[in-house]
Amino acid sequence: MARGPFASSEGIGRAREPWSALNRALANDGVDAIGDGASALSSFATYEETNVRASYDVVIVGAGLSGCVIAERLSRELGKRALVVERRAHVGGNCYDYVDEHGIRASKYGAHLFHTKHERVWEYVKRFSEWIPFDHRVRGVVASAETGESKLVPIPPTMDTVNALFGTTISSEEEMEAWYKSERVFPADGAEPANGEEAALMRVGPRLYEAIFKHYTKKQWDKYPNELDASVLMRLPCRTSTDDRYFSDPWQALPKRGYTRIFENMIGNDPNVDVRFDADFFELKRLGKLPKYDLLVYTGQIDSYYAALGMPKLEYRSLRFEEEYIEDTEDGLFFQEAMVVNYTGADVPFTRIVEYKHVPNQPEGRHEKPGTLIAREYSSAEGEPYYPVPNPENRALYERYAELAAKEQGVAFVGRLASYKYFNMDEAILNALEVFDNFVETGALEPKRAPSAFGSA
Ligand code: UDP
Repeated sequence: MARGPFASSEGIGRAREPWSALNRALANDGVDAIGDGASALSSFATYEETNVRASYDVVIVGAGLSGCVIAERLSRELGKRALVVERRAHVGGNCYDYVDEHGIRASKYGAHLFHTKHERVWEYVKRFSEWIPFDHRVRGVVASAETGESKLVPIPPTMDTVNALFGTTISSEEEMEAWYKSERVFPADGAEPANGEEAALMRVGPRLYEAIFKHYTKKQWDKYPNELDASVLMRLPCRTSTDDRYFSDPWQALPKRGYTRIFENMIGNDPNVDVRFDADFFELKRLGKLPKYDLLVYTGQIDSYYAALGMPKLEYRSLRFEEEYIEDTEDGLFFQEAMVVNYTGADVPFTRIVEYKHVPNQPEGRHEKPGTLIAREYSSAEGEPYYPVPNPENRALYERYAELAAKEQGVAFVGRLASYKYFNMDEAILNALEVFDNFVETGALEPKRAPSAFGSA
């Protein structure tokens, strides 16, 4: 098969018909007020005691999705003044992206693919960006069960994946359903799957589990699936068709000028919002350098907030990226076939390779020029926290922290790190929007429904 850009007759980054038609995102949908113009962002600066007000309605810790959505809503709807303190030197949290010295848009903290089934979220994000439809499709380098030879196959598993790995000639959804049926192993007595291994076995059976899920999961979490909640392994769909899209949501798209631009449009020029970088909330607090405020929105790790209590720390997983710019590739343009290629075996230490050039929101014309940037992704226990680790032990410990948080007056704990919840981007946005709704309706700045009520892990 031809190497990238990962296109079909529908366009770059688009799945084949009929699957591409399931994506309701339209080309250039949405508004980007800054657009291609110069972006002088009056709200953003490095923290200095002299460039913050004496008092704010709200101090928000963290300029990621949750913090920025809340700042934007409070300002635009209620005229509230917010100070956003951010430890790093940029806005956007782990969504932060930029154009590198080779003219390639890259994500500092790994690939981010926006997808949602929540119309409210889709309508909201369209206010801050133009969007380009993108049907994220992943390939995996997977050892064939028959021969042991490595094959490049669609992930999540589709009809083509099974045929390639097991030498079958399945050609209809009925045959595929029958194949799954013959493979699947269910927990005894009709019970719910107790962990990730049971979840995977009841979806795909032991052979696909071994080939695609078991070792990848160990590399990603440093835990085998039986040490993780079932929900982690339920994140991926499992196809009976040839639909090779990674997600099933009705809206799947990429921001035309990158994710960072969304945050700039949200609060970058808002006179009610001051975003201050290189600002460690705890350090500023300790030094008595914080202004006065009525409410605090905390989006960092919940256990860091309570560090002084000396309770056990929550487990978070981090990622490390080994980036490489390749001037000369085999076909002159691309390194691999798709934006993301997973390496599911224990024989390679990294989990996946991301090649940014495949996405349609690269700067104009970059696809046709030689030279490509790839990032090998390694999972690690050290470094910036990316993922909570969903399992019963961590959940029980989180509950202890959540009890403390519930008693805290005037502090809202919001987002992936503070709620210890594996939110997808759209869920983080929806959760933050609901925190704002709650504030309007009841005066309480806290989530309307438990983070656990959100879909995925
Ligand atoms: N997973 C796997 N093999 C794969 C892809 C995913 O075993 O090829 C499992 C793994 O446990 C992973 C989880 O499914 O952590 C969720 O994958 P997802 O791609 O949603 O993870 P993220 O993109 O959030 O890192």
